[in-house]
Amino acid sequence: MTHNPRKRFGQNFLHDHAIIYNILSSLQASPEEHWVEIGPGMGALTTPLLAMGLRLDVVELDRDLVVLLKDKYSHEPRLQIHSADALRFDFSSLVNDNQKLRIIGNLPYNISTPLMFHLLDNAPCIEDMHFMLQKEVVDRMCAAPGSKKYGRLSVMMQYYCTTELLFEVPPESFDPIPKVMSAIVRLVPHPQPPVLVDDLHKLNRVVTQAFSQRRKTLRNSLKKLIDEDAISALNIDPTLRAESLTLSDFAQLSNLIDDQA
Ligand code: SAH
Repeated sequence: MTHNPRKRFGQNFLHDHAIIYNILSSLQASPEEHWVEIGPGMGALTTPLLAMGLRLDVVELDRDLVVLLKDKYSHEPRLQIHSADALRFDFSSLVNDNQKLRIIGNLPYNISTPLMFHLLDNAPCIEDMHFMLQKEVVDRMCAAPGSKKYGRLSVMMQYYCTTELLFEVPPESFDPIPKVMSAIVRLVPHPQPPVLVDDLHKLNRVVTQAFSQRRKTLRNSLKKLIDEDAISALNIDPTLRAESLTLSDFAQLSNLIDDQA
């Protein structure tokens, strides 16, 4: 069966065997594990994953691909195919015997950030995640304070997990060829939050506000949320810009603002 790639589903199929091999070897998967693949497409990663002897659930949005996958893997008792939108899928429903999930996907780039946060809502049932994403997005997820790429995505992702760029993947590894460079990121949810935050919405608010005008000093960008003296009282210099603050600084600032703010 053949399938014409659909742009609206972000379909860029992997065909470079060396890259597929590199991804699979970086996973260190073993047969007793429970894996979930998001967007299996035509099975470029599904087939080698199954060959590792593990249990696998896949979530695919494109119904034509679901038909193709059901046909291709009709003799695979260890594979469950879910015809669903990963953005709305309840990943915690897949867990049995308290066994954490290992998640993988060569994701459609247009949904990557909302999908990440949807998955992180279920962080306690996730062992780790490996994703192919636009390299620019991976750089932002992994950026440290002081870097130009450090921003809201870096702080919020690093609140939930450790982030690591494993390797880059050139456009020619896909069909059709995307316009941008890609990269594989490894995300490992923290067993305990690394900082104390009263309310995640407040952290999100402070971080969003601080980076919305990233050239401004905190004193100015956070004016409506926190007054300058309160910032200084935390030993944070109000003349700094958002890009020099650590996750811990943002956590302390967020704990200062009113619920109604
Ligand atoms: N893993 C395959 C396909 C990658 S293309 C490979 O590497 O070759 C991205 C895949 O995600 C496509 O199969 C696309 O149909 C699927 N997809 C797109 N949006 C999705 C969504 N919201 N939920 C689940 N799958 C989705």
